[in-house]
Amino acid sequence: MNVNDTEVIFSLLSKHGYERTESMDEADVIMANTCSVRDNAEQRIWGRIDQFNLQKRKREGVLIGILGCMAERLKDQLLDTHKVDIVAGPDAYRSLPELLAAAAPDHPQINVMLSREETYADVNPVRIDKNGVSAFISIMRGCNNVCSYCVVPYTRGAERSRDAHTIVREACDCFEKGYKEVTLLGQNVDSYHWKTETEDVTFAQLLEMVAQVSPDLRVRFSTSNPQDFSDESIAVMAKYENICNHIHFPVQSGSNRMLEKMRRRYTREWYLERVAKIREAIPDCGLTTDVIAGFCSETEEDHQDTLSLFDEVCFDTAFMFYYSERPGTLAARNYPDDVDIETKTRRLNEIIALQNRKSLESYKKDIGKTFKVLVEGPSKKNPEELCGRASNNKMCVFPDTIHQKGDYVEVEVVDCTSATLLCRLKA
Ligand code: SAH
Ligand code: SF4
Repeated sequence: MNVNDTEVIFSLLSKHGYERTESMDEADVIMANTCSVRDNAEQRIWGRIDQFNLQKRKREGVLIGILGCMAERLKDQLLDTHKVDIVAGPDAYRSLPELLAAAAPDHPQINVMLSREETYADVNPVRIDKNGVSAFISIMRGCNNVCSYCVVPYTRGAERSRDAHTIVREACDCFEKGYKEVTLLGQNVDSYHWKTETEDVTFAQLLEMVAQVSPDLRVRFSTSNPQDFSDESIAVMAKYENICNHIHFPVQSGSNRMLEKMRRRYTREWYLERVAKIREAIPDCGLTTDVIAGFCSETEEDHQDTLSLFDEVCFDTAFMFYYSERPGTLAARNYPDDVDIETKTRRLNEIIALQNRKSLESYKKDIGKTFKVLVEGPSKKNPEELCGRASNNKMCVFPDTIHQKGDYVEVEVVDCTSATLLCRLKA
């Protein structure tokens, strides 16, 4: 999501004569786009700001800015103790040219207003990823859920869906520029709902509209929320070959008591029913998840419920974290962060160890299968090999010196690790 925000920022700034540079030593303006989801993401930024300030001392006139969620959350600290010149929240990127023009030594500029409307619908992002094969398209902003541990609704504001036609136009534009895959992004894509007096588009309908851009344009999406993931979306996925068979399906915990306390609006049973439904409709569907270990008051029994859910579902991979209290959230205000760090770490490590075994199990199931892979380029380890993802999002590597990035190739899986399918080209 932040990569896409940065692409939007580059687009807005380039219209005002700013050019991107790869080197901090050349830059007149140095900005970091930030995330507040976990404390360690924020901690890393303070060190970066020190580096930026070094540049400012070396070269007169350099301006430094902090954008995104941390700007929203920590504006005072950024201005008072860290001497940042520009502080702009996630809905304030359009004002950056003005803020930059007005900023001067000891005259910092700030805009952290959150908006109910801003979706940057008309901004065509400047793609910063170099591979030219896969692009991100933001379909909505903000979030209307209030998961008790999560800072996102406070830093990114209320949920807004972007004009469906601008999304389809952006997908067409990507395809015309040679991209072969788009990923539709939102905190909760299933609650996408764009409505005007004459039109009413749900996520399932949007997915279908984007899938129809071209059968050669793959469509992915993230993130799905278990409580809102609809049968209609499953049906559209099953109908279109170019909608990739992969769902990122964050569970957060396997314990109903924890899920309730987290204010997730589903139960373990509901989650497992959705997984069963997905696998029935799309047998090869890739499933990945997010989980939080050691949330407030989590007992050994709750933790065992998470392990047993991981065992039962057999995810391909997972993003695994221990709970990090975020100031201002419901959990921070109402529940003590009472699982000690040793226990959090041990539980997290147990989940990681189990998931590593499960990943291997999941990847092994694909040995012998044939997949259509979108080539991303040479594999990192061996220039004689190419890499690319199968529809289920698993990374495939295979010896090949003929095809190029952006090509579709058929491969057969011959072996695997817990993170890669080792393949050969189908004759
Ligand atoms: N909108 C998505 C996730 C957004 S945040 C969803 O609802 O699933 C990405 C992930 O960060 C979350 O899925 C969660 O696992 C993790 N996360 C969010 N807040 C956290 C916190 N306070 N401590 C630890 N992990 C957290
Ligand atoms: Fe945070 Fe929950 Fe919204 Fe995801 S759905 S961004 S976890 S509040």
